[in-house]
Amino acid sequence: DPALDLKGIAKSYNPGAPNEVQVLRGIDLQVAPGEVVALVAPSGAGKSTLLHIAGLLDTPDTGTVGIGGEDMTGLGDRRRTAVRRADVGFIYQFHHLLPEFTALENIVLPQLANGTGRGAAETRARALLAEVGIEPRADHRPAALSGGEQQRVAFCRALANAPRLLLADEPTGNLDPNTSDQVFAALMSLVRGTGLAALIATHNLDLAARMDRQIRLDAGRLVPA
Ligand code: ADP
Ligand code: ADP
Repeated sequence: DPALDLKGIAKSYNPGAPNEVQVLRGIDLQVAPGEVVALVAPSGAGKSTLLHIAGLLDTPDTGTVGIGGEDMTGLGDRRRTAVRRADVGFIYQFHHLLPEFTALENIVLPQLANGTGRGAAETRARALLAEVGIEPRADHRPAALSGGEQQRVAFCRALANAPRLLLADEPTGNLDPNTSDQVFAALMSLVRGTGLAALIATHNLDLAARMDRQIRLDAGRLVPA
């Protein structure tokens, strides 16, 4: 089964009103387990809308969203939240870490919310931090970390519950080019070999070229990049 299976997704804001914006016009997209797909699009093209629909944070006007072979289209809010928590990881341009908690706790908390015990959650959090090279920073709060380190922690948090699907919106967009390269490599080291499927929106064509496949969002439709 595809990790992500979007069929015929259409979405308008303010439908029927004079200021209607038709953002997505029939999106079909499958992402296989283990596949890393670059989503390239100019600002305003509808990347965030597409990622939010794929991650069950928003609903399409028409079309279906499948995650891990299950059709999520008709699910109620409780079930959507449970699927999101267990099966989907989100990464944004800004880290959105909880400032009053350490790096480790930021990665432990989503696991506790998902039913993992504290001991196992801490072990996993340390292993994830080690994978991205910042285990020595485990007990620092976000404010004591560099921008690149903060993003690495956010990556670990997104993968804390071992989701099937990772959705990233400009994950290195806030970093200088050098840091961006290293931080992207850290992300790939987390993703590769886990079977995780990833859809990563980026303006950075060098990073896009390092992914398995590139697609472009153009006038509400996907075209090969
Ligand atoms: P991107 O992430 O590619 O910049 P978005 O998905 O955020 O694009 O937005 C796509 C288009 O939809 C833009 O023209 C934006 O102004 C519009 N849009 C986004 N959210 C809303 C909303 N809540 N209400 C009305 N228009 C919106
Ligand atoms: P909780 O009550 O556990 O926070 P939520 O439905 O708010 O449940 O969140 C479930 C998952 O979806 C979490 O991983 C959270 O980070 C993510 N999430 C919720 N809302 C948003 C949002 N607006 N943008 C990005 N991720 C979100």
